[in-house]
Amino acid sequence: MQGLMQDVPLLVSSLIRHADRHHGDVEVVSRRVEGDIHRTTYREVHGRARRLANALDALGVALSDRVATLAWNGYRHLELYYAVSGKGSVLHTINPRLAPEQIAWIANHAEDRCLFFDLTFLPIVEKIAPLMKTVRAVVAMTDREHMPPSPPGVELLCYEELVAAHGDRYAWPELDEHLASSLCYTSGTTGHPKGALYSHRSTLLHTFAITWPDVMNLSARDTIMPVVPMFHVNAWGIPYAATMTGAKLVLPGCALDGKSVYELMEAEKVTMAAGVPTVWQNLLAYVGQNGLRFTSMQRTVIGGAALPPAMLRTFEERYGVAALHAWGMTEMSPLGTLCALRPQHAALPADDAFAIKAKQGRVFHGVDMKIVDDAGNDLPWDGAAFGNLLVRGPCVVREYFQGEGGDPLVTDAEGLRWFPTGDVATIDADGYMQITDRSKDVIKSGGEWISSIDLENIALTHPAVAMAACIGVPHPKWDERPLLVVVLRPGAGATRDELLRIYEGRVPKWQIPDDVAIVDAIPLGATGKMLKNKLREQFAGYRWPAP
Ligand code: AMP
Repeated sequence: MQGLMQDVPLLVSSLIRHADRHHGDVEVVSRRVEGDIHRTTYREVHGRARRLANALDALGVALSDRVATLAWNGYRHLELYYAVSGKGSVLHTINPRLAPEQIAWIANHAEDRCLFFDLTFLPIVEKIAPLMKTVRAVVAMTDREHMPPSPPGVELLCYEELVAAHGDRYAWPELDEHLASSLCYTSGTTGHPKGALYSHRSTLLHTFAITWPDVMNLSARDTIMPVVPMFHVNAWGIPYAATMTGAKLVLPGCALDGKSVYELMEAEKVTMAAGVPTVWQNLLAYVGQNGLRFTSMQRTVIGGAALPPAMLRTFEERYGVAALHAWGMTEMSPLGTLCALRPQHAALPADDAFAIKAKQGRVFHGVDMKIVDDAGNDLPWDGAAFGNLLVRGPCVVREYFQGEGGDPLVTDAEGLRWFPTGDVATIDADGYMQITDRSKDVIKSGGEWISSIDLENIALTHPAVAMAACIGVPHPKWDERPLLVVVLRPGAGATRDELLRIYEGRVPKWQIPDDVAIVDAIPLGATGKMLKNKLREQFAGYRWPAP
């Protein structure tokens, strides 16, 4: 027997339509690349998204055609989120930090029809224009006054002219909810990037889930600032979730230095912000150096890379801002876990509670996970055994765009299909997952695994250390041993022995790094993560000191 409920599809357009009807006056505030602060509302975003949808129709952008963006977090990018997906085309956000040749490769692989870009990225557009094979229209996201001259061989269109030239009547189509709505390529540290193609259904399910109290706990009373970019996995889904809940949205544009982020947070009374640890490190440095406080911030979601426990404590103890550790990946839409405490943790002493909050956290309904050994056998949830982390759910990829890389899933003994994350983790008896490594970054010493993340977190407790990476370097006796690579804070000093001494009593003796290399910089990827494969190449010729 079938249920007798209305068959209303879960569509991205329903988010902005809902926002317009039920909290249309709520503000969307953006720092523009033109330099000023711009204020609009969800109602206006909806109106302009409909004008833009008409403009895209006029440009010949058809159902499921890909429309690329090279853009910061701003209201025009938000309008594109709703215009492109709303009309049934696919919003393809491209990470502008990739090399131009890689951007052109991705645009060609995705067969993008149009490219919208923020003015900052004109130099990229100039480089990739001759390489792009399928793009028919290139649109500068600005007004006539700020339009740059068109590069050779491209006739740039002006965003504001496109919006003004079309009416705001547009009936969002009743699409099949399984249709693709957006596309994001993985950062791909080796080989070509692969595309994760999200559907309207997966996007809506992810949006519902991340707003829940034990996840990001978003409400109409919040003012939310995603510092995590809208070009990387839809800023963790926050623009959609803010639209759904009616939270005020604050979009920081290209000014991601500590001072600019802090001033915008304070001016707009932000209550919740989300970002990666490297960006938060700049924010905390600015706030600390200038003796400032956060006057409105209640909590921050931190993920994309492991949240260093020292940063967690600074946010919570010094500033009274709850730091919520989150883990996810492009292939998961992206959120997989978030660390919120359970009732049994209420009476824990502070140090024990911090030890739990430093974990990546628990899944929410819609994501299932397990850890397995190399033969695929389930490992116990005891917080100690670690193995390969597998996930499944309606917001997890089944395969990559254009079938790239073949079938990525593995089948377990029950016949269930799982996505191998490539992360190595423990899960404790309360269901809290903790990443110990990327499987490629695990250090294997004498057959035993050592967690590079643990060793890095300990290094970061030293006041002179700004960044730390621990890599396995071949060793004649132990196969591999840990080498600690650090960048020191400007003006700070620390010796090798001082740095190694902080490990005493904190990890078993055999896990203590054998040596320290102090470097000027650690290579970072396009999403701000440390590129340990590059670092390993850099230290390929390293020789251990004689015992
Ligand atoms: P991406 O798809 O580029 O967002 O990268 C996803 C990968 O980033 C994951 O598979 C993890 O290796 C890493 N990652 C994301 N969040 C965390 C976290 N909170 N702690 C440790 N690693 C993380």
